[in-house]
Amino acid sequence: MTLDMSCLNVDVDRYQRLLATNTLVLSHIAQRAPLVQTLTCIVGGIEDQNPDIRGAILVLDADSHRLQMGVAPGLPQAYLHAIDGMDIDLRTEVRKGAASRATQIEAGQFWPGFCEQALRYGLHACAAVPIESVAGGVLGIFVVYSQDGSPPSDASRQAVADVSSLIIIAIERAQVETWIENAEKALIESETRMALAIEGSGTGIWDRNVLTDEIHYSAGWWSILGYADAELSNHIEESYTRVHPDDLAYVQEAIQDHFNQKTENYMVEHRIRCKDGHYKWISSRGKVVSRDADGKPLRMIGTTTDISALRTLSDRLQQSVDLISNLTNEVPGLVYQYRLLPSGLAYFPYASGGIRDIYELAPRQVALNASLVDAVIHPDDLPAYRASLEASAASLSPWHLEYRVILPKQGLRWRRGDARPRRLPDGSVVWHGFITDATDHKSVEIELQEFATTDFLTKLPNRRYFMAQMEQELARIRSLANTDTAVLMCDLDHFKAINDRYGHAVGDQVLKLFATILREELRKSDTVGRVGGEEFAVVLPGVGTTEASAFARRVQKRIARSPLRVGDEAILVTVSIGISVMKATDADAEASLFRSDGALYRAKAGGRNRIEIAPG
Ligand code: GH3
Ligand code: MG
Ligand code: MG
Repeated sequence: MTLDMSCLNVDVDRYQRLLATNTLVLSHIAQRAPLVQTLTCIVGGIEDQNPDIRGAILVLDADSHRLQMGVAPGLPQAYLHAIDGMDIDLRTEVRKGAASRATQIEAGQFWPGFCEQALRYGLHACAAVPIESVAGGVLGIFVVYSQDGSPPSDASRQAVADVSSLIIIAIERAQVETWIENAEKALIESETRMALAIEGSGTGIWDRNVLTDEIHYSAGWWSILGYADAELSNHIEESYTRVHPDDLAYVQEAIQDHFNQKTENYMVEHRIRCKDGHYKWISSRGKVVSRDADGKPLRMIGTTTDISALRTLSDRLQQSVDLISNLTNEVPGLVYQYRLLPSGLAYFPYASGGIRDIYELAPRQVALNASLVDAVIHPDDLPAYRASLEASAASLSPWHLEYRVILPKQGLRWRRGDARPRRLPDGSVVWHGFITDATDHKSVEIELQEFATTDFLTKLPNRRYFMAQMEQELARIRSLANTDTAVLMCDLDHFKAINDRYGHAVGDQVLKLFATILREELRKSDTVGRVGGEEFAVVLPGVGTTEASAFARRVQKRIARSPLRVGDEAILVTVSIGISVMKATDADAEASLFRSDGALYRAKAGGRNRIEIAPG
């Protein structure tokens, strides 16, 4: 069948000729021959068929507007270098020329200079055709040279125009190839970089074909175990033989769970046997990357990291922590770390087991909030406890305090705390210290205090303590105007006789009886003291002689009505009392006591069981 194409106004002969004369070019393009080879073939073909011309294809760089390649089989290479050195923006020039297509490039401003350059090499540039991409961009120029500078024949021009479509295909194809090649190179480079980074970090990579149960390991993986690259079989069953027997069950379970999609990732830490036979701890992480339609895993890839060093470090750290805990738990009392945040929240990041004795609490009960400790501190001591911590935090000075706690089992106990504060960058303060039981020590101290101030027999203040209190009273009345303070001196009558008749022990009973009566008659603000064997002194602040006399009479009456019963006998005692008034002008506390003594002497002299007032 013949096709009549005359109606299409297509020069069929021309195309047939083009195809026939360029079969070699087409095969170059099809076989992806290097661009320079294809273009050389095109120019050579034109030159062969059109002896009046020679040609050169100038391919422009895709981005830089410079000459990327000049293909001119018969032209001197130095000429092409010279064009490259002309420093003209060929692409812009070609575009300018293309705007007025009638005259093409030859109308461009650069053309005369371009021709001049050619002449230096004995070449007569006579025409130039832009090579434009399908998208409209400029890919290059086809320059035509004649023997003597005369314009090319129409046939030559036509031939050049005809092959330009082949040139476009060749250049664009080459550009795509280069682009793909570069992209592949970049990908390989980035993959290589990643692989190197992974390997360098002591991590190996594995890739498991779940269907065939083959597993491929990277060189880094083998080196973790001390093997040269792929020294062993890559069957999964063999790899399981390297897992520590104690770890194998949970490793396989973790894999099964991930295969069955129970877990997002496969992640286990386990021991693995190295080439030299010893076990190493590794962390293995992976993921199934492809499954079949039923969800059955096909391929799984992952990494293995050597964590033996990390494991050793964390074991050692744990040993240190255990050591500290064991030591502090053995120490009597509470060894602790206490932290106060800027928000005011306080807690015990560490508390030794001793907290069970000290506060009857467990460490975890105070690990996040210390309020349970505050709750067991004696309410009277809590303000001092808080204030002392605040002061220690403010000045970063050591904290020391003795305070009472009220505990569910032990009841009231004394505690002694010592700690050193340190300020942290976040503004919180952390104390390290210990708290011990101070109950015994505190009782002794209280006892000693009592011993120093109290009369053992009557439990009344002794002379020394009484005199100290009198001094305080004197200081008080000196600071206040118009206040009376009565000072009474009481002496049991014929006390020696009681001792002599009933014995010293009975005498003691009488002394205790009299002390009780005195104590019961006193107001809270009054002071009493045993100042001699059977002598007792009383200070009545704010009381004048009249009221003091009434007090003295009450005491006399009570002792007179309170006989001490010894067997069948009732021992009755009387008391003589001397009264004086303390004056702000007194030299010391002894002065008023001396005056009362004088009055007492008169009471004795007057017949005993009497009350005398010292003259004002
Ligand atoms: P007067 O009426 O003049 O005060 O006679 P008196 O016997 O009470 O006075 P005197 O000073 O002669 O005797 C006081 C006695 O008190 C002498 C002493 O043995 C006795 N005495 C002192 N301290 C104690 C004591 O702690 N217990 C006992 N049982 N007797 C004591
Ligand atoms: Mg006496
Ligand atoms: Mg006496």
